[in-house]
Amino acid sequence: MNLRIPGPIPVPEDILETMSNPMINHRGSEFKDILYRTTEGLKTVFGTKAPVYILTGSGTGAMETVIVNTLSKGDKVLSISIGTFGERFGEIAKIYGADVVYLKCLPGTAVAVDQIRNCLDEHPGIKAVLVTHNETSTGVANDLEEISNVVKKEYENKLLLVDGVSSVASLPTYMDLWECDVISTASQKGWMLPPGLAFISFSDFAINAYKKSDMPKFYFDIGQYEKYFKMGQTPWTPAVSLMFALDLALEQILKEGIENVYSRHKEIGQFTRNQVRRIGFSIFPEEKVASNTVTAVNVPDGRQSGELIAFMKTNYDVVLAAGQGELKEKIFRIGHMGKTTRNDIKPVIEGLSKYIS
Ligand code: PMP
Repeated sequence: MNLRIPGPIPVPEDILETMSNPMINHRGSEFKDILYRTTEGLKTVFGTKAPVYILTGSGTGAMETVIVNTLSKGDKVLSISIGTFGERFGEIAKIYGADVVYLKCLPGTAVAVDQIRNCLDEHPGIKAVLVTHNETSTGVANDLEEISNVVKKEYENKLLLVDGVSSVASLPTYMDLWECDVISTASQKGWMLPPGLAFISFSDFAINAYKKSDMPKFYFDIGQYEKYFKMGQTPWTPAVSLMFALDLALEQILKEGIENVYSRHKEIGQFTRNQVRRIGFSIFPEEKVASNTVTAVNVPDGRQSGELIAFMKTNYDVVLAAGQGELKEKIFRIGHMGKTTRNDIKPVIEGLSKYIS
């Protein structure tokens, strides 16, 4: 099966195999070595010297961790949404009692920094800005560097909280350079791992916010993670098998070089879009904001994504994703994170060209 959804992504054979290694004591020295080594590797990928914590949970758990560890009830936050996952981030903040100001952009577009400026000027009390780096539901990448230049350089004392679930380890992300306060991500995307782990990093400014934050937390309390990290442990029983896999995946990513990993994603993103256009489809977002981890494609007029997806599965054993929410039948998505090669994309193009002809 050619699994081309935007996560979970196919996991390389050797990484899968490490997960069948026997269990180890999660409070012993062998685990401590793995925890310290993987945390260092994660810091390199995040581009940060700040602490990175490894959680057992999915991307949504990581988003919840961002919110409950930095905010207090009644805090005013700006929730930038360019799709389903941006909306989710704002929803979590609201459920925990934040006072959410919504900046909802048209599906298929990236946020424009003037829109952010307008919101921050109109609501000077905004304490935090929530943003999705790469919106998987619409195949759009926001310009995080540009956003940070506005939020962190033109304004003072604002937390920049980033959902990097489908960007970190695939798209250039430099946490310290871009002054992001928290970045969260999840294992089933560019990390080439199965679902189940989430990684999250906190700047000094975010840690100060943590100290004042009054939102309820227990499992995702990063104070607990920090306390146990000093002992070479996680507070709760970790997903040991996934830690073995993470150790090997990071070894491979770092050996290749993170900049090379970014270049590869750029190349395969471009290749996929070019091929899709060549056979007569159109890309949902504009080229300049199109994501290099997932390509969102318009379903031809009068047809529906469900039918296209079934055709691809039945005839080509290619698994594609539908749109989400209102876009469900209008677009379909091709994932190309991790070690995706042109040979993985070619059968997709072959099938799609038969579908459209
Ligand atoms: N944010 C983004 C950008 C995502 O792509 C996803 C997963 N597709 C999530 C958040 C939620 O992650 P999970 O499904 O792992 O909870």
